[in-house]
Amino acid sequence: MRISNRQRVLVTGGAGFLGSHLCERLLSRGDDVLCVDNFYSGVKDNVAHLMGNPHFELMRHDVTFPLYVEVDAIYNLACPASPIHYQRDPVQTTKTSVHGAINMLGLAKRTKARIFQASTSEVYGDPEVHPQAESYWGRVNPIGIRSCYDEGKRCAETLFFDYHRQHGVEIKVARIFNTYGPRMHPNDGRVVSNFIVQALRGEDITIYGDGSQTRSFCYVDDLIDGFLAFMDAPADLVGPVNIGNPVEFTIRELADQVLTMVGGPSRLVFKPLPSDDPKQRRPDISLIQSSLGWAPRVALAQGLERTVDYFRRLLQS
Ligand code: NAD
Ligand code: UDP
Ligand code: UDP
Repeated sequence: MRISNRQRVLVTGGAGFLGSHLCERLLSRGDDVLCVDNFYSGVKDNVAHLMGNPHFELMRHDVTFPLYVEVDAIYNLACPASPIHYQRDPVQTTKTSVHGAINMLGLAKRTKARIFQASTSEVYGDPEVHPQAESYWGRVNPIGIRSCYDEGKRCAETLFFDYHRQHGVEIKVARIFNTYGPRMHPNDGRVVSNFIVQALRGEDITIYGDGSQTRSFCYVDDLIDGFLAFMDAPADLVGPVNIGNPVEFTIRELADQVLTMVGGPSRLVFKPLPSDDPKQRRPDISLIQSSLGWAPRVALAQGLERTVDYFRRLLQS
C-alpha cells in the first residue's frame, strides 16, 4: 500500500548536466526523486546540494543492468552526451542507449510508469533538410565515429515505439537540440563550455573547421520547462517532439560573442573539423509550440552570462 501521495520519479543520468537540473525541478514541485547514475560523465557534485532533502535518493547503478524499483514515472537521460565522452568507449555508449532503453522500458512496462526518452537532434545526422522537423528521417552515417551515439539513440527510439505499440507503454520521446548552462562539465569538450573556459583562462579559442557550421543553443531552464510540459501532456502526445531554441548561430559567431562577453587575451585558432560534424542544425519547434504552447524564453546573450558566471566561480574554487 502507498503511504505517500507524492509521485515517485526515477531520473536515469540524474547526476549529469541536464539530469541534475531536472532532479532539482522535480523536487521543487513536490515529487520524490530517485536519481540513478554510474558517474561515467556525471559527478556527485552536481547533486550534492540535494543530498540533504529527504525526498531525494541517489543510487549508483549502470542502466545496462536490470533495475527493480517501484516508480510512477521515468525520465531516461542516462547516456554520455558530449562527443569526447561518448567516443571514449563507443561500445559502452551503444549499450547504454540500447540495453539501457530495454531495461527502463521493461521497468516501465512492469510498473505501468510513463517513460520519457532523452533523444537527440543527432538522429537527423548531417541533415539536408533545414530546419529539422520531426517528420524528417535524417541522414546518419551508420559506421562513423558519431554512430555509436546517433544509431544508439535511433535504436532507442525504435524500442520506445515498439514497447508503446506492442505493450501499451506510455512513452514521451523528446529530441533535444544543443543545450547549455551551469553544470556542463568543464572538460567534456562541448562548444559552449570549451569557449567559455578557454576565454576565462585566457587560452586560445579552438574553432573546428572554418566556424561556418551552425548550431542553435537552448538554455537549460527553458529545456527543463519543455520536459515537464511534455511529460505532463495527454498520453496521446507520444512524440517524437523537438525541444530546443530555433535561433541559429555559426560557431564563429558564438566564439565572437563569448570573447566579447569575457574579454581577455584569447585569440581564435582554427583546428581540423572532426569527421561527420553536422554542417547545420536548427529545430523546427512548431509541433511543441502548437500542442503545448512551449517556446524558449532565454536569449543566448542572457544564458551565456549565467553560464559564464557559473564557470568563473567554478574555476576560482
Ligand atoms: P551528461 O553526460 O552530463 O549526463 C549523462 C549522465 O548519464 C551522466 O551523469 C552519466 O554519468 C550518466 N550515464 C552514462 N551512462 C550511464 C549508464 N550506463 N548508467 C547510468 N548512468 C549513465 O549529458 P547531458 O547533457 O546531461 O545529457 C543528458 C541526456 O540528454 C543524454 O541522454 C543526452 O544524450 C541527451 N541530450 C543532451 C543534449 C545536450 O545538449 N545537453 C542534446 C541532445 C540530447
Ligand atoms: N527489467 C528491469 N526492471 C523491471 C522489469 C524488467 O530492469 O522492473 C528488465 C529485464 O531485465 C528485461 C528488460 O527489462 O531484460 C525487458 O523487460 P521485458 O519485460 O520487456 O522483457 P523480458 O523480461 O520478457 O525479456
Ligand atoms: N566545436 C568547436 N570548438 C570546440 C568544440 C566544438 O568549433 O572547442 C564545434 C564542433 O565541431 C561542432 C560544434 O562546435 O561543429 C558543436 O559541437 P558540440 O560538441 O558542442 O556539439 P554537437 O557537435 O554534438 O552538436
